[in-house]
Amino acid sequence: MAESGGLLRCDVAIAGGGFVGLSLALALGELPLSVVVIEPLPPARQYPPDLDARTTALAPGSRRVLEAIGAWRGIAAEATPIHSIHVSDAGTGGFARLEAAEQGLEALGHTIGNAALGRALRERAAELPRLQLHAAAATGVQSAPGGRRLATSTGLMVEARLVVAADGAGSVLRSALGIAARVREYGQQAIIANLETGRGHAHVAHERFTRAGPIAALPVAAGRVAIVWTLPEREACRVLALDEAAFLVELQRAFGFRLGRFVRAGRREAWPLALTESVVTAADRALLVGNAAQGLHPAAAQGFNLALRDVATLAEILADEIAAQGPAADPGAGHVLQRYVEWREADRRLAIRFTDTLVDLFGSERGLLRVARGAGLLAFDLAGPVKREFGRRLMGLAGRQPRLVRGLPLVADRPTA
Ligand SMILES: Cc1cc2nc3c(=O)[nH]c(=O)nc-3n(C[C@H](O)[C@H](O)[C@H](O)COP(=O)(O)OP(=O)(O)OC[C@H]3O[C@@H](n4cnc5c(N)ncnc54)[C@H](O)[C@@H]3O)c2cc1C
Repeated sequence: MAESGGLLRCDVAIAGGGFVGLSLALALGELPLSVVVIEPLPPARQYPPDLDARTTALAPGSRRVLEAIGAWRGIAAEATPIHSIHVSDAGTGGFARLEAAEQGLEALGHTIGNAALGRALRERAAELPRLQLHAAAATGVQSAPGGRRLATSTGLMVEARLVVAADGAGSVLRSALGIAARVREYGQQAIIANLETGRGHAHVAHERFTRAGPIAALPVAAGRVAIVWTLPEREACRVLALDEAAFLVELQRAFGFRLGRFVRAGRREAWPLALTESVVTAADRALLVGNAAQGLHPAAAQGFNLALRDVATLAEILADEIAAQGPAADPGAGHVLQRYVEWREADRRLAIRFTDTLVDLFGSERGLLRVARGAGLLAFDLAGPVKREFGRRLMGLAGRQPRLVRGLPLVADRPTA
């Protein structure tokens, strides 16, 4: 890393120090690469622990990636294992279960509060000597000899052989690179809140499809339940404005009593929902990862899990390139980016289609779709192999997996953390 006259040179510059940008920086921290992360928000504004009730459900492969990049030890104590997933459809009475034991797993995944996840990633980042965080926003990008030059809001220019856009669904860098994105507005909002319930969660995650939209209820720390309640926009605004008692009554009516009586609700927040799909995920010496590449509806809890596979794949391709080329390895070379795009394409398409189809199928009141999903859930609950395959897809274990997702070291001869 070299800085002179307001110009900082590095191997990889990452715009966006959210979960995905930081995870990528940690994964690259294993390699002999200098990395700069550009993030405008101070940590306290990104994931304020007292205000942000959001929870992320992590698939088993994601846990392995987080272990390998040294972030899991900061998460483990606050993570809650999911032993089974219950899917039910209020419209048809359809019901399906996924059990960890059936999948040959200890847990189908874990939940973690976003504040704890953000803290663990940042604490690990502070330990890496070749990683530098710069408090600024990326404002533009130009070509430079053998690389790209990022302009930032502080006036500092960052020149890198590879720039990565991890600056979220509304990515400024994606636009600056001239890459278009298709946006599908669902006309829905997700209301999130943490609840105390009469019965506790018994480590079961629920996905309940109702006429108005899906309700996810995830087991979290201290026996609480984190809900993500998807509603049409106007309904969401109305429900958000209810007092706590009225909110709990409405939620209970929609969800039922699988978790006993809802006793208390924490602070509620609403998130507008859309599918944002970048038309391509690479340009000359530039890649898009995480929400900058694809921002998904949270119904299937795929967004961060999918993005960690972006991270693990890119880190593996760069590790292999360095092993093959030594110091001559160029992280932004055309064949490196090509390999990344080809490897990620199938998994990315599948996750986007899977999530979008789920929203359409379970958000529809059209007769045939209702019957199909009722019958589908029933058949699913009975059919072992279908269930196993679905489970593998939901957990991001289908298809060719990068080494970090499989729990193998990124660099041969080096054990994972
Ligand atoms: C209600 C809800 C529940 C969810 N639940 C799950 C779940 O259970 N499991 C799961 O896997 N996923 C879940 N997701 C999805 C998951 O939260 C996202 O996929 C993930 O946070 C994406 O991270 P990101 O870093 O790509 O983007 P973001 O979180 O949007 O971060 C982008 C970062 O870039 C920064 N930035 C913005 N502009 C610039 C700029 N110009 N220059 C530099 N930096 C910039 C921002 O400050 C931010 O820190 C959920 C999403 C929602 C809305």
